[in-house]
Amino acid sequence: MSIVEIISDVSVKLDAAREKLLRTLTGKGDVCLTCSFQAEGVLLAKLASAIDPSIPVLFLDTGYHFAETYAYRDRIAREWGLNLINLLPAKSVAEQEAEFGKLHEFAPDRCCAMRKVEPLFKAMAEYRVWLTGLRREQAKSRVSLEESSMFALPGGKQVLKVAPLVSWTTRDVWYACEELGIPLLPLYARGYTSIGCEPCTTLPLDPDDLRSGRWAGRKTECGIHIQTIEPAPAN
Ligand code: SF4
Repeated sequence: MSIVEIISDVSVKLDAAREKLLRTLTGKGDVCLTCSFQAEGVLLAKLASAIDPSIPVLFLDTGYHFAETYAYRDRIAREWGLNLINLLPAKSVAEQEAEFGKLHEFAPDRCCAMRKVEPLFKAMAEYRVWLTGLRREQAKSRVSLEESSMFALPGGKQVLKVAPLVSWTTRDVWYACEELGIPLLPLYARGYTSIGCEPCTTLPLDPDDLRSGRWAGRKTECGIHIQTIEPAPAN
């Protein structure tokens, strides 16, 4: 595919994503967006906030992110006027480590449950629709993702989870960010291909697996995205 064809293809995909977001956001209320300030999340925040500048942008503030991620989050939120909502765990990093030690070193599932899953699902109970930048290409665990699906929270409430970029490639995301003048998290320039908490993120171990630098192969998902129960009706 030539550069011209790639740009044209991305332009079509951007129009489709905007259309999907317009349908999702118009007149429905109770819609939020989760963003870890990786490229696809930031692109989605840019597109969604252009339609609804007040859309809540939820960031899982685990306390373990890279300093670069916090600085980038603050810069983007400030410059774009995002309605950023930092979701904090019940315990600070110091409190958790004093009580349980460095869980990320020997029990990452438990650490993710306390610092990501519990705060997100508690906050998500306030919403009816959850927008996410998830993409099938990101990991083997995501290849069968639907663009829209129902997601059951603890307690039984279901939210509609929508991933407008689900079929986008990394190249698509990069070209779209370039096209829209979106600066990327500087850690990408150092070779990271998937960026989460600092203690659990390394450069990719497998160049063909974008998330192979997460948890050093000990696990592949933090737990906030794994429970897709059924495709939702098209909207
Ligand atoms: S990614 Fe690592 S540091 Fe972050 S919440 Fe999960 S286990 Fe803890």
